[in-house]
Amino acid sequence: MQLDLSADQVLIRDAVRDLCAREFGPQASSWDREAVVPRQAVARLAEQGFLGMAIPEDWGGVGYDSRTLLIVLEEIARVSAALAIMIAVHNSVGALPVFRFGTDEQRRRFLPRLVSRELAAFSLSEPGAGSDAGAIEATATRTEQHYVLRGSKNWVTNGEQAGVYLIFARTDKAVGSGGLTAFILERGTPGLVVGKAEDKMGLRGSDTVALSLEEVKVPLDQRLGAEGEGFKIAMSMLDAGRIGVAAQALGVMGAAFEESVRYAQQRRAFGQPIARQQAVQFKLAEMERRIQASRLLIWRAAWLKDTGQPYTREASMAKLYASEAATWVTHQAVQVHGGYGYVKEFAVERYYRDARVMEIYEGTSEIQRLVIARSLLKDGVKV
Ligand SMILES: Cc1cc2nc3c(=O)[nH]c(=O)nc-3n(C[C@H](O)[C@H](O)[C@H](O)COP(=O)(O)OP(=O)(O)OC[C@H]3O[C@@H](n4cnc5c(N)ncnc54)[C@H](O)[C@@H]3O)c2cc1C
Repeated sequence: MQLDLSADQVLIRDAVRDLCAREFGPQASSWDREAVVPRQAVARLAEQGFLGMAIPEDWGGVGYDSRTLLIVLEEIARVSAALAIMIAVHNSVGALPVFRFGTDEQRRRFLPRLVSRELAAFSLSEPGAGSDAGAIEATATRTEQHYVLRGSKNWVTNGEQAGVYLIFARTDKAVGSGGLTAFILERGTPGLVVGKAEDKMGLRGSDTVALSLEEVKVPLDQRLGAEGEGFKIAMSMLDAGRIGVAAQALGVMGAAFEESVRYAQQRRAFGQPIARQQAVQFKLAEMERRIQASRLLIWRAAWLKDTGQPYTREASMAKLYASEAATWVTHQAVQVHGGYGYVKEFAVERYYRDARVMEIYEGTSEIQRLVIARSLLKDGVKV
């Protein structure tokens, strides 16, 4: 596994870092306050090709390997975790499944929009089915020309802005997770009703909505993959999505760490900078240790993916470790800032709120531990 970035990766990282710092950094806290990331921000990223990172050039994307995609997500998350999750969901679990599992006709129809301007959403969760995705109750009943979708979905990231939705519904009531099927729906399809955005603790600029499926007629040619393949499609996409969440966690904790180091060197107490206190130094050392360990796990999972090897377990390890590291690091960043860490004037307050959800979505920490344990008991230990 190569640890150095290639010359191209360095160029891309520096370009996205510069763009984010110049154009998004000054606005990120107002996006949080106003609970909206403006469409222009997504449009700016689209201009750079960042809506087509996982799509090959032949299909209009920029065809990045996983590590390059993760570097971009990390850089965006450094300034705005809300914008990063919008782009992560779009690339990893929105556009990519259309390419990976779609017919050529579906690719021709949907990919040009997705790589150039429209966000995609991924709608698996329901009010009664989160960790237990096999318990999905939304149904898709086949008629001669259509499937008719009925049910309720929730927690749909990008749901308010998306042009294209991947929706998972049950085509076979009798079979648990094997009875799920994926569909591609367009915004504005009659019966696809977008609910109001959740009032969240963090990631406030990214919209998260409920969807109501009220007798939605979906043409047969908008089924993604075969009937009964939905669960498999969702799980394989979540492997990629989980490394994306880990990269997002890396960006947020990296920003929190840098601000903590800067603050600790400036803030004086008892006649000297607080960075001279060993208790503060230990916090900073521990923050950096967890950040670097996270990066290694993330890059390892990406390397396995890019070299065509199984990576489910490593993706779960990267997601679990990095998300827990991010909640710890951002917690300590608030502590290092003292009272100033608790007010909105300092960004660490936002990072702390933003990091918390990373242990929850795309599979909770408990579910990641289950995935890792099941794999090590089935496939053996790797040490
Ligand atoms: C901001 C945000 C954005 C989201 N975006 C999306 C999206 O775009 N698309 C989408 O489909 N979903 C999305 N989700 C949903 C998210 O993936 C779920 O919230 C998550 O999978 C957990 O499901 P749940 O909320 O139903 O919790 P539950 O599954 O009810 O879990 C509750 C608690 O029980 C624990 N638990 C459950 N089962 C087990 C078990 N077997 N062993 C041990 N512990 C267990 C969990 O770990 C958790 O601590 C989003 C959620 C949030 C908060």
